[in-house]
Amino acid sequence: SDRVGVHWANITCLESALKSSYLHALLCLVTASTGLTDEQKEFQKVAFDFAANEMAPHMAEWDQNEIFPVETMRKAAQLGFGGIYVRPEVGGSGLSRLDTSIIFEALSTGCTSTTAYISIHNMCAWMIDTFGSNELREKFCPDLCSMEKFASYCLTEPGSGSDAASLLTSAKLQGDHYVLNGSKAFISGGGDTDVYVVMCRTGGKGPKGISCVVVEKGTPGLSFGKKEKKVGWNSQPTRAVIFEDCAVPVTNRLGSEGQGFNIAMKGLNGGRINIASCSLGAAHASVLLARDHISVRKQFGETLSNSQFLQFKLAEMATRLVASRLLVRQAALALQEDRPDAVSLCSMAKLFATDECFSICNQALQMHGGYGYLKDYAVQQFVRDIRVHQILEGTNEVMRMIIARDLLTES
Ligand SMILES: Cc1cc2nc3c(=O)[nH]c(=O)nc-3n(C[C@H](O)[C@H](O)[C@H](O)COP(=O)(O)OP(=O)(O)OC[C@H]3O[C@@H](n4cnc5c(N)ncnc54)[C@H](O)[C@@H]3O)c2cc1C
Repeated sequence: SDRVGVHWANITCLESALKSSYLHALLCLVTASTGLTDEQKEFQKVAFDFAANEMAPHMAEWDQNEIFPVETMRKAAQLGFGGIYVRPEVGGSGLSRLDTSIIFEALSTGCTSTTAYISIHNMCAWMIDTFGSNELREKFCPDLCSMEKFASYCLTEPGSGSDAASLLTSAKLQGDHYVLNGSKAFISGGGDTDVYVVMCRTGGKGPKGISCVVVEKGTPGLSFGKKEKKVGWNSQPTRAVIFEDCAVPVTNRLGSEGQGFNIAMKGLNGGRINIASCSLGAAHASVLLARDHISVRKQFGETLSNSQFLQFKLAEMATRLVASRLLVRQAALALQEDRPDAVSLCSMAKLFATDECFSICNQALQMHGGYGYLKDYAVQQFVRDIRVHQILEGTNEVMRMIIARDLLTES
């Protein structure tokens, strides 16, 4: 529409920005491919193309109609994105944590909410691959990697959020089954997914009493709450997951009894890099949208891009994006190499990148003026979708607790 001097529909703008050479990093100052190997640049381009062609054109509709885009995710899985860091012998792509971050950043430019769900699914598939018996790996991983089946991660409960180790869902051993009772809150994909990776209490109080079991949809005693109405992340359902005398074979346990909290945290280290990477993608797209908007929007007789104030804002946004990306990639490398500072770095990356990227997207919305507040314009969706990244997979306050704990206990 040119009703007020805005020359394009914003979704069209997003698609063209995503398809432009900027995201493929030929010209752009906020390039995402600096320092990458040729192979990494190749799958990064595949992911950017998928985001631009298969996701960006639908992201507003998925958001407004709350559509969980199963077929699109299966197409992403055909490119290897269903089990990116799962081992190849059970259908995974066997890529590194840095590779994974690069892919999630690129996909997220096309729909942050859908990519964030794919990242949780990847985390669950990795947990089963890494801590499951060979039987469990062979049973679940191939279907998860192809996204024939979808997974959910079940840690949070109504009474235990930040203090996750206080969870109450019980798993009582009866013969060769655990009988689960309790409920999980806020489960991404809950109700629509097939495989639930559940942290439950098999022992006494605290983290050492927790085990991790895989529960399949259709198991008697497993049910779901109503679909939550959310500010963002609308392309994926969120529901409570309820266990009432739900019997699960002991052979569905990941790792040993009492190892569940440790497994949950190991999953989340990677999960935090993945969520941070999704924030990078949203911020990257928002910087491009803001740049394009101020380059065409005229006020006071000239384009907004002539305002030095807005130029400086744009420069700051790009700088904060690049700084966030450097930290996220550094953390991904540390995790890949199993370095002693990996846990702290993953927490720092999640804290810094999700805070900075939310602020970048919010500033991009501000630079759109009133248009930024309209749902015709993609920038508002990025703002709504990444707000929750500061809350889940450990709130950013919990990230500060982890970093401080590591600093204070260092010898
Ligand atoms: C859309 C969405 C999807 C989610 N998906 C999943 C999922 O798939 N699986 C899953 O297991 N969970 C999921 N969660 C849950 C999420 O991980 C929790 O909401 C989060 O861990 C915070 O827990 P809480 O909501 O109970 O907040 P609380 O723990 O009650 O915290 C409230 C506030 O107090 C702060 N706070 C708490 N303790 C302290 C302290 N000691 N010092 C300083 N500040 C403190 C917190 O940081 C927060 O700001 C999801 C949540 C949302 C909103």
